[in-house]
Amino acid sequence: MIENKVKVAINGYGSIGKRVADAVSRQDDMEIVGVTKTRPTFEARSAIAKGYDLYIALPENLPLFQQAGIEVNGTLDDLLGKVDIVVDCTPGKKGVENMDKYRKANVKAIFQGGEKHDKVGRSFNALSNYKDNIGAQFVRVVSCNTTGLARTIFPLVRDIGVAKVYATMIRRAVDPNDSKKGPVNAIVPELKVPSHHGPDLKTVIPGIDIDSMAVVVPTTLMHLHSIVVKLSRPSSTEEVKGLWRNTPRVRFVKGSEGVESTAQIMELSKDLNRDRADLNEIVVWEDGIQVTGDTLYYFQAIHQESDVIPENIDCIRAMCGLMEDNIASIRKTDAALGLI
Ligand code: NAD
Repeated sequence: MIENKVKVAINGYGSIGKRVADAVSRQDDMEIVGVTKTRPTFEARSAIAKGYDLYIALPENLPLFQQAGIEVNGTLDDLLGKVDIVVDCTPGKKGVENMDKYRKANVKAIFQGGEKHDKVGRSFNALSNYKDNIGAQFVRVVSCNTTGLARTIFPLVRDIGVAKVYATMIRRAVDPNDSKKGPVNAIVPELKVPSHHGPDLKTVIPGIDIDSMAVVVPTTLMHLHSIVVKLSRPSSTEEVKGLWRNTPRVRFVKGSEGVESTAQIMELSKDLNRDRADLNEIVVWEDGIQVTGDTLYYFQAIHQESDVIPENIDCIRAMCGLMEDNIASIRKTDAALGLI
């Protein structure tokens, strides 16, 4: 048992926040001190039921919590006074509005992929740039799609060399818990080219030459990426498979074994009996990998609600100086989360 655990707050107990809270709770070198909610929703009750101390992010909403009979331990400011680091999981673009608050409270802060890199100043992927963020005060964990790109492209850059990446993101419309947005029956192209994903990858793999496009489709399960990579030299399907087989947080599935779509991947994730049936690894179709000369083709699927969760854990370790070595941190996180 480690005595001086890093004390962590979660600001914004939504899709990402609740998962980061549970993942932190599984580590032996950090602990959750409290989580925030803005309103007394069912998720506020779930947080308390899980044993988390609940704080209110918007003090003016205290009467709502009182009316609902939900006890709180104080405000966000009170919580910030008790922690070393806050993981900000508020909706996109809201996180940086809290930056001054975190600075005044002298706490470190992790922001999520909905924030702009320029506003935070640093971005993080455990495999590609862990060391650059050791000891930093403010860091952004890149989005679910960028995390997926980094996980499979960084090993190619490191071990083979990449001349150019062409990536198309086929994006889920909304998360499964969202009943308000669409599209319900349409395919929506992102007309701005490149989509933000390519430029975002450069924040964690500087110098990568990538063009990206995106479309949104009516599904909630996962994102799917269709990727073509011009390698710096001729390679082989077996070489690339071998590389990814040894890459943490990349998992192979086979169409020939019945995994024909994201539907079967999510069924597989339920069979694994993980928390919330999450699949933190990036899923690559092994029988969809093809290298012809110096050109690599592959498909990968991203469980948008969960691939960034282990990255947040490693980011806490880097920022709080708990471990110098990224692979050691990745292995520790993955063992605690029960990943392969
Ligand atoms: P979410 O809407 O599920 O959760 C956000 C939570 O923050 C909600 O509980 C909301 O009540 C709360 N909140 C709203 N305003 C607040 C405030 N001012 N102070 C404190 N809490 C507040 O959103 P999410 O999907 O968890 O996304 C959070 C961040 O993670 C965003 O930057 C998003 O882009 C990023 N992200 C989301 C996904 C995903 O697929 N869900 C994947 C990767 C990254």
